[in-house]
Amino acid sequence: MIALSLAEIAEVVGGQTHDIPDPSVQVTGPVVRDSREAGPGSLFVAFVGERVDGHDFAARVVEAGAVAVLASRPVGVPAIVVEDVQAALGALARHVVGRLGTTLVALTGSAGKTSTKDLIAQVLQRKAPTVFTPGSLNNEIGLPLTALTATEETKFLVLEMGARGIGHIRYLTGLTPPRVGLVLNVGSAHIGEFGGREQIAQAKGELVEALPPAEEGGAAILNADDPFVRAMASRTKAKVILFGESDEADVRAENVRLTDSGQPSFRLHTPSGASDVTMRLYGEHHVSNALAAAAVAHELGMPADEIARALSEAGSLSRWRMEVTERPDGVTVVNDAYNANPESMKAALRALAAMGKGRRTWAVLGKMAELGDEALAEHDAVGRLAVRLNVSKLVAVGGREAAWLQLGAYNEGSWGEESVHVSDAQAAVDLLRSELRPGDVVLVKASRSVGLESVAQALLETG
Ligand code: ATP
Ligand code: MG
Repeated sequence: MIALSLAEIAEVVGGQTHDIPDPSVQVTGPVVRDSREAGPGSLFVAFVGERVDGHDFAARVVEAGAVAVLASRPVGVPAIVVEDVQAALGALARHVVGRLGTTLVALTGSAGKTSTKDLIAQVLQRKAPTVFTPGSLNNEIGLPLTALTATEETKFLVLEMGARGIGHIRYLTGLTPPRVGLVLNVGSAHIGEFGGREQIAQAKGELVEALPPAEEGGAAILNADDPFVRAMASRTKAKVILFGESDEADVRAENVRLTDSGQPSFRLHTPSGASDVTMRLYGEHHVSNALAAAAVAHELGMPADEIARALSEAGSLSRWRMEVTERPDGVTVVNDAYNANPESMKAALRALAAMGKGRRTWAVLGKMAELGDEALAEHDAVGRLAVRLNVSKLVAVGGREAAWLQLGAYNEGSWGEESVHVSDAQAAVDLLRSELRPGDVVLVKASRSVGLESVAQALLETG
């Protein structure tokens, strides 16, 4: 963080100083909410959680070197006391990004935010120092904490923004106002919670409404292949840049194909030129993510060949997303258990099919959550696609949704022995341990709540 005195922080957040002998003492960072991360120069933010109260750790963090605590009551050690700690943290982030000359890039979407954020970071990093959201810390607490890690050297700040409802993104853009705003897609993730795609689009589009007008540098990067995202062009005063496979896209991909190892390859076109990309990441859904990253990089002044090189070298920075590991016995495990939605399930199956040419392929799949009324049809469609792609064996894990996956396979190809329904992850592990042969490829994927990564991990432990 940039160095700020306790007096300045207190003023910015509208707080009272308590037990602070010298208000000119500076916080040099980091700003932390986890007491174990507090060290010399840090500011500890005390949240009252369901199980633990951060205030109980006040003495300990000061002992560890923290300069003060941002708290909602006096704690007997140096503290800035405010009514609402979360609002204060947000105000501090807003103040700091306002002082820095950093270009803020924000992105949202139903699926692929973290993957794309990681790609953007790896591309922009080549041009100038870049700070970005670690993992998926994309809410009202993680976002300001990330923003506060920026320093005077930081040229680009890339922030993932998650929306759980109307007004969330507006709130987040108020804390860290972006100049460049990217909307990836309006998929079916959380459709049950939101009520429908229109509502999801309404919520995500708040990002482009918050951008400055084109004359002031505002740029809205929108997915030309997603009608709900494309329609957001009418909700912004910023310059619109379209990405996608559509001919009308400013940044587009041509000759998209999967290599034999399941990695997407394509020719990238940007207004500044064209160049070939072969990704290290697996699955064709990453083409869209890569184009989005390319559009951001183009807007920030990078030429096509440099972007293409960076995309071709970019790896995954976040775990359990198409993580490919080869066991010593030649079994390949593809762990994509971080999460699942209909789009990514299909993309993962296609990657499996491409990787598995001439090998036996196993799709170990669990439920896709939060699909509301579409749940049956979407699971059925995934089961059917497994048949059409000639996957060798479908292992459907869990309850009702797993039965729907299996039913889809039965309806499409009269699959009997080719598909198995098991009740839980352990049963899947037991089955695979006895059936896998050298050279097999196993994809493991389901929604987060299913926790199927345990299957991938168990397979790798026994390898
Ligand atoms: P979260 O809301 O949990 O933060 P996210 O939007 O950050 O999720 P990622 O973590 O990048 O998304 O990816 C989650 C899952 O979505 C991955 O496992 C992957 O299968 C899938 N995915 C990634 N990119 C896309 C995309 N462009 N379209 C559809 N699915 C995608
Ligand atoms: Mg994420």
